[in-house]
Amino acid sequence: MQIEQVEPVVLESAIGTVSLPGGKNAFDATVTPVVAKVHTDEGVVGLGETYLDDPSGHKALTAAKGMEALGHELEGKDPRDVVARWHELYVHVKREGSFRALSAIDEALWDIKGKASGKPVYELLGGRVGELKAYATFPLSKPAEQLIEDAGWLADKGFPTMKIVAGHGIDNDTEKITTVAENLPDGLGLAIDSNTTYTVQDAMRVGEVASEHGLEWFEEPVSHTNVQGMAQLNRDLSVPISAYQNNLAHYPAVDLLEANALEIYQPALDFVGGITAADRVATMIEPYDKKLVPHAFGPAINYSASLHVAAASPACSLIEFGVYSDEIDDPGEYIASPYVANQTDIYVQGGGTIEPPDEPGLGLELDDEVVEEYRLN
Ligand SMILES: [Mg+2]
Repeated sequence: MQIEQVEPVVLESAIGTVSLPGGKNAFDATVTPVVAKVHTDEGVVGLGETYLDDPSGHKALTAAKGMEALGHELEGKDPRDVVARWHELYVHVKREGSFRALSAIDEALWDIKGKASGKPVYELLGGRVGELKAYATFPLSKPAEQLIEDAGWLADKGFPTMKIVAGHGIDNDTEKITTVAENLPDGLGLAIDSNTTYTVQDAMRVGEVASEHGLEWFEEPVSHTNVQGMAQLNRDLSVPISAYQNNLAHYPAVDLLEANALEIYQPALDFVGGITAADRVATMIEPYDKKLVPHAFGPAINYSASLHVAAASPACSLIEFGVYSDEIDDPGEYIASPYVANQTDIYVQGGGTIEPPDEPGLGLELDDEVVEEYRLN
């Protein structure tokens, strides 16, 4: 089997915008998907996906050009030798920075490998290891009183944890954490994400409040480049420190493990280098008793790829699930990818469990008519 062409498809975001903290650098983010369609001479088409965060779509259109250019490196080669292809592309990507392209293409190659062998990707990764639950990322900026109401809704569904946005200053965060944590429904844990906003000193103060209230984790308290800062927080606070969504490939995990900087590793499959890189992070952290909780905020094909890695990793029993709207009846419903014909196959069941699709490959198919409605390129 040979690769004939890598075709990027840019799609308009199907969800609204989310405000991310960062002081002067705060911005409104969304989910603009770039699907990698990898065509082969035997008619098997692989699907992979990355996404960009700008509502205008400009960054996604630029990423698509990079994906197309990188795709030429693969023409005439066997898509089923995924790891060999990953390393051939990485030689270029580490110089050019097209990690989004590498990630989507890698996912598409695994999809082909699965479709060609009639097996879901989790089988190719070694099979499933146990029950997987989804935690709810609730990114809507709301006052604490309203978050408490939403917490009841998420707890009723069975999500074990609710993650809210922090990073809005020590006083604001302290008040929000305290109010929400003291009014949480039984059985629901709380996590916070400050998206690399704080200095170590400020993160320490917010982390003390998080520790006092028994939060599940404190995500990206400081810059992902500040390995020693994360290590200090991880050593001095009882709340577990998590990060990795801004790291590229699996190589940075070496330094993070040596410094004991994190308890929870959150590679973003759309960016880290796809299934190949995320699965290697999972393998590296397992002997250190660290947890894999994939960053999986985004569109369905990439989400499915994240589910397959999570389901097959002994270091993983939890995955992110974005609840993008408070106006849906069922917060376990997946709504970000109407252009995927069977996006409803991704669903959080009562009790908070979630399973990867069990059709061959990643298990999702495009609805070509809806793709044309959303298509930007
Ligand atoms: Mg995050």
